[in-house]
Amino acid sequence: MVDILVKGGTLPDGTQADIAITGDRIVDVAPGIAAEAGEVIDATGDLVSPPFVDPHFHMDATLSYGIPRINASGTLLEGIALWGELKDETTIDAMIDRALRYCDWAVSMGLLAIRSHVDTCDDSLKGVQAMLQLRETVKPYLDLQLVAFPQDGLYRDPTARENTLRALDMGLDVVGGIPHFERTMADGAASVRDLCEIAADRGLPVDMHCDESDDPMSRHIETLAAETVRCGLQGRVAGSHLTSMHSMDNYYVSKLLALVAEAGISAIPNPLINIMLQGRHDTYPKRRGLTRVREMQALGIPVGWGQDCVRDPWYSLGTADMLDVAFMGLHVAQMSAPEEMARCFTMVTETNAAIIGLPDYGLRKGALASLVVLDAADPIEAVRLRPDRLCVISKGRVVSRKARNDAALTLPGRPATVHRRH
Ligand SMILES: [Zn+2]
Repeated sequence: MVDILVKGGTLPDGTQADIAITGDRIVDVAPGIAAEAGEVIDATGDLVSPPFVDPHFHMDATLSYGIPRINASGTLLEGIALWGELKDETTIDAMIDRALRYCDWAVSMGLLAIRSHVDTCDDSLKGVQAMLQLRETVKPYLDLQLVAFPQDGLYRDPTARENTLRALDMGLDVVGGIPHFERTMADGAASVRDLCEIAADRGLPVDMHCDESDDPMSRHIETLAAETVRCGLQGRVAGSHLTSMHSMDNYYVSKLLALVAEAGISAIPNPLINIMLQGRHDTYPKRRGLTRVREMQALGIPVGWGQDCVRDPWYSLGTADMLDVAFMGLHVAQMSAPEEMARCFTMVTETNAAIIGLPDYGLRKGALASLVVLDAADPIEAVRLRPDRLCVISKGRVVSRKARNDAALTLPGRPATVHRRH
């Protein structure tokens, strides 16, 4: 007797298997499991995947679009200024309320683990308090990792360093940074050194907003790679965005990527946001502003896709659907070969889980019983359709269901329903 039996699904690798769940664990993955079950979920012909993971988000700012005004220029820098206005006037309760609503969206989309950067440039640390409360509230169904993120610059903001250390003392999980926003290249490099030492001292991972710029001379990723090695942080460091790499000289990048690989750094591009924010100073040709995804993957550098923003000062759209992120990333990085399209699905599931170090993740015996049933046959079709999540299970509990939803046609001589699977 098991608690839940998911029957007949197709796993992302193409194999068909039933999945048996007892308590919060997967107890068996095999074809034709005969066990009695408290609940049977029929996934025949559907894709059954481990949950989606977002390795880069801003939970303290989400669903705040239009408060107190919208970002007229659409740039990163106006977004930062606007966020400064919002964080002065918002409250802990309002932040938690907005974030909880977002987490409901996430659960319904099968997004069950999120790494969120949390602004630490505020003497009251309102956002940090709010996100720590939120982390506990959603823990039974959603894993939230919190990055101490000095949004206004570790050195550029007079109290940012002290407040970032306070935030880490309060229990944030990861050390963040924003070297390209410091006053000078030298300050940026110094901030990377400082933050890597702080992470090494405290035994924490590092995830920096790094080189989110169209300036090909923004080369803080080079310092991040060198400091990762010097501080012994290999395998624990991620560089988020890395958009300046799009504009760098090819010869320089050929040296740089070898250093990044040597340092065991992961890359987290955020294609929805960067295709919107980057290239704003260009006329034509206009740069795409996405980092070099395929080139890094060819060297074995782990690259995930992050969502970054939903309905906030930087981005007015967004749905908590990591398949939207994969879909945009696939296009901007021109990942059109079948194995590349399938990889885009893996990036928002397994690769993202590995980058943020999620324990017990995956569809295997002994892993945490979290999974998603999608109305698609395989990972490529899932990216193409961004289909309904028919059932979401988190830590052994069904947390969301959605009925199959085909359109009814009223055309003479044509089928009564449209099923967009192909
Ligand atoms: Zn970000």
